[in-house]
Amino acid sequence: MKKINDVNFKGKKVLIRVDFNVPLNHNRQITDDTRIVESLPTINKVLNDGAAVILMAHLGRPKGGYEEDYSLTPIVPHLSKLLNRNIIFTRDLFGQKTVDAAAILKPGEIILLENLRFYPEEINGDVEFAKKLASLGDAYINDAFGTSHREHASTATIARFFPKAKYFGLLLENEIQNLEKLLHSAQAPFTAIIGGAKVSSKIDIIKNLIPKVDNMIIGGGMAFTFIKALGGKVGNSLIEEDKIDVAREMVQEMMLKGVNLYLPTDAVISDAFSNDSHFHIVSADDIKEEWMGLDIGPKSCKRFAEIINNSQTLLWNGPMGVFEMDRFKQGTKSVAIAVASATISGAFSAVGGGDSVAALNQYNLSDQISYVSTGGGAMLEYLEGKVLPGVKAILDK
Ligand code: AMP
Repeated sequence: MKKINDVNFKGKKVLIRVDFNVPLNHNRQITDDTRIVESLPTINKVLNDGAAVILMAHLGRPKGGYEEDYSLTPIVPHLSKLLNRNIIFTRDLFGQKTVDAAAILKPGEIILLENLRFYPEEINGDVEFAKKLASLGDAYINDAFGTSHREHASTATIARFFPKAKYFGLLLENEIQNLEKLLHSAQAPFTAIIGGAKVSSKIDIIKNLIPKVDNMIIGGGMAFTFIKALGGKVGNSLIEEDKIDVAREMVQEMMLKGVNLYLPTDAVISDAFSNDSHFHIVSADDIKEEWMGLDIGPKSCKRFAEIINNSQTLLWNGPMGVFEMDRFKQGTKSVAIAVASATISGAFSAVGGGDSVAALNQYNLSDQISYVSTGGGAMLEYLEGKVLPGVKAILDK
């Protein structure tokens, strides 16, 4: 690991790729500044060394040209307040103003470049574009874990221009250390709790975790493909017909490897995908036609909580039901509480994915989790065993 705490950046101009992809409301006000706040330790470390900072970031998915809705303008006053420093905001990436501002940038000063995704070259990982970015500074730090699974110019290509001066930021370093701990030095019993809508998006993570975990809890819509694969009746629940065979193979693999698989035994079923519909609690493998399972039932909540509370290592990704609707949020809430309480009793817990993190925040439980990942997609890909381009680019010689 090339750690920034082992380096003194005094007198340098340091390019830092940060994740400022924050949610904005219709008035373009920041509604959750977590990502900005979490990038402050790295920025402050570099500034405190006596260096200048050039920040590179993106916001949303503009179509490849300037769009006011995706401008980083709202970030400027907020970041300035958080750092208690002036921010130089340059809109024209390689215009004379930016080049001049970078050239005369002094220690302690900060430039924020406009949304890099206004340039298609960013997403294409364009070498010339990366080279121009690189020419603005003399060291490169990647601290944008949430985009490190993308091979973009500012997350990957740029690193090749700093063979001796490229580093992981503190946030990225922390994410990787926690994920490595999960994958390679987890204390048993290790329980993975996987939920969400579709099996298809979680097949690779489940496969990669089978040799590592003791218990696999599967909830959410995806559980019904497993229940059907095992001969259950799932009515109108969410099903991926073309994944039934894969689900069956995964169940066999878990049996072979001695992994205990826990599927919901009861479910909250509804006659419509709505909060105002009729609902009942039934056995999860005996759902009548016209009815769909939208949450795990109370017996499953209790059983899952017992398994979670007896674990030393926990990984949770994906909701247990349609938690966006009040009537079907109980399963997700009960898993959130169980993971937090197991952590208080000494377990190591890792939670990732937008919905699971949102549920933790909703119940004010985030502080009670050992590690809440800032990157949903990046965390999943890491746990699938993939090498993230943003990580590889720093490690490459
Ligand atoms: P994912 O992005 O695959 O993690 O899926 C998250 C979504 O799955 C959430 O929006 C949930 O509402 C949805 N979900 C969870 N359980 C179910 C279910 N039983 N039926 C339909 N959708 C579900």
